[in-house]
Amino acid sequence: MEEKIKVLVIDDERGIRDMLSYALGKEGYIVFTAENGEIGIEKVKKEDIDVVITDIKMPGLDGVTVLGKIKEIKPNTEVIVATGYASMETAIESLRKGAYDYINKPFNINELSALVSKAYETKQLKSQLVSLKELDKLKDEFIAAVSHELKTPLMAISGAIELLLASEGVEDEENLQFKYDENTKKILEIIDRQTKKMRVLVNNILDFAKMEAGFFVLKKQKTSFIKIVNEAIKEVQSLAESKKIEITKQLPVEEDVTVNCDPDQIERVITNFLTNSIKYTQEGGKVSVSFEKTDNEVKLTVEDNGKGIDKENLEKVFERFYRVDQSLNRKESGAGLGLSICKKIIELHNGKIWAESEGLGKGSRFIFKLPIG
Ligand code: ADP
Repeated sequence: MEEKIKVLVIDDERGIRDMLSYALGKEGYIVFTAENGEIGIEKVKKEDIDVVITDIKMPGLDGVTVLGKIKEIKPNTEVIVATGYASMETAIESLRKGAYDYINKPFNINELSALVSKAYETKQLKSQLVSLKELDKLKDEFIAAVSHELKTPLMAISGAIELLLASEGVEDEENLQFKYDENTKKILEIIDRQTKKMRVLVNNILDFAKMEAGFFVLKKQKTSFIKIVNEAIKEVQSLAESKKIEITKQLPVEEDVTVNCDPDQIERVITNFLTNSIKYTQEGGKVSVSFEKTDNEVKLTVEDNGKGIDKENLEKVFERFYRVDQSLNRKESGAGLGLSICKKIIELHNGKIWAESEGLGKGSRFIFKLPIG
């Protein structure tokens, strides 16, 4: 045993205390003993006990009460209860109150020792999980705080650039005219484009942090699904044209579907699917949007004939910050957050989202299903 595990035995029978001290001590445990519940609880307060073995039936405090108190003082300490009368009821009550396990008296020492070792492993795993969760929370809070701080100056920069671009040729009070030479104009346009990208990124990170923390609220209303799809297509039209990609629509023959959803967020998901399809498809490629209605669901598919996704990455692309091409010199910009936000949005609507692809070079299909009602 590498680390010394501290075990406390609470039992009013001296014979049992001595026997366990000897047997567990021989196995490398540091063993403390207490002849009643009160003393046991005091020892738990003072020592960093990993595992407690407590008798159930003792004069003074009984084992179940002792268990409850220990869990209050040191919730991470694992407790094994020893039931003398093979009483199923007390055993179950102990488990309900947080006991790690129970063992019937008279017990086999090897069995008990194995149980102590498993209880200790569980305690270690739980504390690792707690520190990971705390770290994750800290990271989320940090990201949210930083993005919030970035948002204000970014808005100011965007506003200033827009003003500069719009004021060209406008006469001011002293009849001075702004006139930029070609290079200055190009540079301003670059700053404008990149600032817009950064704004989208910061907004995505902030929204994602809100979704993770459960603060993101949907604004649901009954909406025409065709309208949402058309808005999304309009949004990406110029990007598609810049890559000579044609977006085709295959909408259902029957009339429109009315869906109870947050239209802005569903449009965001479709826009994201479309932007990705355009981003990850070669010039002149094809992207199509289609949707169909079943009894109580609507299913939307965005399909492209672009670079495709290998099988092992089909689920991973929905993980936060995951990008199939991790290389720094990759062509397409992005943070790998888009699809994880889409997933959150669809899940908040109680829908399903997934990706399909026959493999690399064979195009992709991004699909979601939403309940209509
Ligand atoms: P981003 O595009 O910002 O990297 P996303 O979360 O939108 O982030 O997508 C995650 C990853 O999924 C992308 O980096 C890309 O590798 C892959 N991906 C998404 N859409 C497609 C698509 N239509 N074709 C091929 N790969 C895609």
